[in-house]
Amino acid sequence: MNLKFRKKINFTRPTVNRMNITEIQKSKINSIDFDTLAFGQTFTDHMLICRYREGKWQTPEIIPYQPLTLDPSSSVFHYGQAIFEGMKAYKDDQGETWLFRPEENFKRFNRSSKRLQIPEFPESYFFEGLNKLLYLDNQWIKSGEGNSLYIRPVVFASQASVQASAANEYIFMIICAPVKSYYSGSEINVVIAEEYSRAANGGVGFAKAAGNYAAQFYPTTQALKNGFQQIIWTDADTHEYLEEAGTMNVFFRINNTLITTPTSDRILDGITRKSIIDLAKHKGIAVEERPIKVAELKEAHKAGTLQEVFGTGTAVVVLPINSFSHGGETFSLPKETPVANELKNSLLAIQYNQSEDPFNWRRAIV
Ligand SMILES: *Cc1c(COP(=O)(O)O)cnc(C)c1O
Repeated sequence: MNLKFRKKINFTRPTVNRMNITEIQKSKINSIDFDTLAFGQTFTDHMLICRYREGKWQTPEIIPYQPLTLDPSSSVFHYGQAIFEGMKAYKDDQGETWLFRPEENFKRFNRSSKRLQIPEFPESYFFEGLNKLLYLDNQWIKSGEGNSLYIRPVVFASQASVQASAANEYIFMIICAPVKSYYSGSEINVVIAEEYSRAANGGVGFAKAAGNYAAQFYPTTQALKNGFQQIIWTDADTHEYLEEAGTMNVFFRINNTLITTPTSDRILDGITRKSIIDLAKHKGIAVEERPIKVAELKEAHKAGTLQEVFGTGTAVVVLPINSFSHGGETFSLPKETPVANELKNSLLAIQYNQSEDPFNWRRAIV
C-alpha cells in the first residue's frame, strides 16, 4: 500500500457523536450488473438524511435508501429552492477509497445554499456523515478503470407551505450511485447557443441550483434532436462570448495555449476546471483565463490554429469535443486530442492514487 500518498480528512470540531445508523437487512448489491450501469440510475444500500427545523440542523441519520414522504405543498415543488453537489469516490488497486478535493465541494455547497437562502450545512456533519456512509457502502465502490462512486449531496425546502418566501424547513441528503465512465467512446458534437441563455449577471449561474438545470432541458432537448449532445452557452447579452456547457466548463486549445473563460457569477467554478488549470501550468502548458469570443474560435479554426476543445467536470473528468456548430455551420475538430488525453490521465492517476499528488488534492476515507 502506498502509505506515502495517504492524507486524512481533517474534521472541524465538534463532531457528530450520536449519529443514528440503521443498516439494511440485506444488501441488494448482488442483483446489480456493474458492467451495464446507466449513469445515476442505480443507488447504493444507504443514504444520509438530515432535517433542518426550529432554526437548526438536527442530528444526521444514515438509513436504508428509500422513498421520502413529502407534503404536496412542500415549498421545493413550487419554488425550486434546492441546490446540489456532485463528487466522486475512487478505489485504488489496494482497496483503499479516495475522495478528490472534497472540501471544495463542501464549500461550494454552502456558497450555493447561501445564494438560494438555504441554511448552510455544518462541515462536521457533512464529512462525518459522508465518511460513515462510504464506510457502510464501501463494497459498491469498484476499483478498476472508469469505475467510481458518484456522490450526490442535495438540500431542498421541505416546509409544507405555498407561501412564496424562503422556507423554514429543509432536508439535506447524500445519495450515492456506482458509475462507469461517462459517454465513453461516443462522439460529442456541440452547438454554440445563439438564442437561449443559461445564466445572467447577478443571477445563480455560479450556484449548483436545481433550476439552472431545469431551464436547460428544453434547449438541450432541441439540440439533441438536431444531433448535438451538448450546448456551449454564451453570454446572455450578446451571445458573442463562450461560457460553459450543461455540467462542464470548457477549454479551447489555440496555438498551444489553453484558454478558458474566467469564473464569474454566471459561471460554475468547477473543481475539475481549476485542477486542470493547475495541472496544465505544472506541466508547462500555457493557460489563459480570459473571455473568449465565438469569432476567435471560428478564426482559429479557419487559420488551422484551433487544436482541441474539451469539457471538464466531475462526471466526465475531461471530455474531448469532436465538432462545434454555430450559425448553421459545423466545424470539425482534429481527431487527436493529446493535451486533453494527457491532462485526463494525470488527473485520473491522482484520483485513483496511482501517482504522486503534488497539490495535496486526495483524501483517504477512513
Ligand atoms: C458541476 C458543474 C460543472 C463542473 O464542476 P466540477 O466541480 O468540475 O464537477 C461545470 N459547469 C456546471 C454548470 C456544473 O453544474
